[in-house]
Amino acid sequence: MKSNKATVKVITPRAAAVAAQEPLAPLVKQILESLGEDVAREGLARTPERVERALRFLTSGYAMDVKKVVNGALFAVKYDEMVIMKDIEFFSMCEHHLLPFFGKVHVAYIPRERVIGLSKLPRLVDVFARRLQIQERMTQQIAQTIQELIDPVGVGVICEARHFCMMMRGVEKQHSGAVTSAMLGAFRDRKETRDEFLSLVK
Ligand code: ZN
Repeated sequence: MKSNKATVKVITPRAAAVAAQEPLAPLVKQILESLGEDVAREGLARTPERVERALRFLTSGYAMDVKKVVNGALFAVKYDEMVIMKDIEFFSMCEHHLLPFFGKVHVAYIPRERVIGLSKLPRLVDVFARRLQIQERMTQQIAQTIQELIDPVGVGVICEARHFCMMMRGVEKQHSGAVTSAMLGAFRDRKETRDEFLSLVK
């Protein structure tokens, strides 16, 4: 548990406000030139600015505040059955190649006293997907954040993803899908709970 928390904190990015002051477009132009492209040709004329906007959006999770995203949608309940949300779509970028990886996240938890509004779970996923990521860490961060927000009896997160860095570079075209999971509390300690989750997301 402690090591999970440390993982989350290590990647805390520098303030997005500071980063946003450094324009990216000239750097993208340099990359294009380094690739031997003619940056003056029509198709590329506005590409640096477009890439900058795209990168800002794809990393906008750094500037998102989990508390604001959830925005009070934490409700006291008398309910102790498993809450599951399957097939939450996500799109992220691998930090090793700056290429997309994308897929689905399945989230489950057993409430202790509180639940999170269901519509907030996909937004929580986006907070961590819209960053430079590795799949394992993103999966852990989602689980850890739910743990911290509502202190459930347990939380499980499974992430199924395909990675462009593997698909496009021909590293592993046939088996480019990767599955990661993070199990905390009852999902880690009780096999029946974990199995119930696994059978429900199958
Ligand atoms: Zn990669």
